[in-house]
Amino acid sequence: MTTILDGKQTAKEVRARVKEGCAAFLERTGRAPGLAVVLVGDDPASAIYTRNKAKAAAKCGMYDVHHRLDAATPEAEVLDLVAQLNEDPGVDGILVQLPLPSHIDPDKIIAAIAPEKDADGFHPINVGRLWIGHAAPVACTPLGITTILDRYEIDVKGMNAVIIGRSNIVGKPMAALLIRRHATVTICHSRTKDLAGVIRGADLVVAAIGRAKFVTADMVKEGAVVIDVGINRLEDGTLAGDVDFEPVAERAGAITPVPGGVGPMTIATLLANVLELAEARGA
Ligand code: NAD
Repeated sequence: MTTILDGKQTAKEVRARVKEGCAAFLERTGRAPGLAVVLVGDDPASAIYTRNKAKAAAKCGMYDVHHRLDAATPEAEVLDLVAQLNEDPGVDGILVQLPLPSHIDPDKIIAAIAPEKDADGFHPINVGRLWIGHAAPVACTPLGITTILDRYEIDVKGMNAVIIGRSNIVGKPMAALLIRRHATVTICHSRTKDLAGVIRGADLVVAAIGRAKFVTADMVKEGAVVIDVGINRLEDGTLAGDVDFEPVAERAGAITPVPGGVGPMTIATLLANVLELAEARGA
């Protein structure tokens, strides 16, 4: 029997824990943990993401500030806003929604966020800390995946883990987290030779490619754990992951669906990150 790894339910449990944590923080310090969300431009998907993040934060009892800047805002102005948020004692976590308009260098903006307020875990200092094994905020999508693995008591120790995709927000931090958990990790990408062969050797597959139904049943080892990060909009308007769900589910031991798998964990993990940053900063 294949276990369907229910990210929606897991996210609900995480949000409930964060809500409790926020109430306790408020009682102890007299203020709610604060998240500042910055959106530059009017990309419709980003507008939805940021609205959902701010809404979820408010629902957990966080103080949320939502800054929407015009697409033409100069880079220096965005940097000024980040500097202001760094200094704001009511803000514990800062998130600048990516992608940014092309005249703004995302690396510069991320590096300007105070590492101790880096809600997304994208700051180079935090990325370094993650790889060294020190405490740090970690990118929400891969961290959320480890929460799903924990909830279903999937111990990756000694597993052959194959991650498809080497992005800074998913593939690379996922590798660091799985190494920390004693998996043997391979990262594949668009230039990997014999990708199907590599995936076939995996006990755990994490697909973060951005290509609908890319991972097919013939690539997956019987009983493997399959984590599908992809969010792809099909021509008929429905969503599909990077994994061909039904046939792969028949072979896999456990699998995340799309929607309802990794997606809901990303925002829940962001909230958990902000609460942790607030607790680390104290009152
Ligand atoms: P990205 O475009 O930055 O990276 C994609 C990676 O896939 C690259 O490293 C590339 O080398 C690899 N790739 C592309 N084509 C390939 C091929 N033919 N064979 C092997 N590798 C190939 O993407 P990303 O930001 O990491 O996102 C990946 C997917 O995950 C997207 O669908 C995105 O929407 C989704 N995503 C979902 C969440 C979530 O919350 N569920 C969060 C982030 C990203």
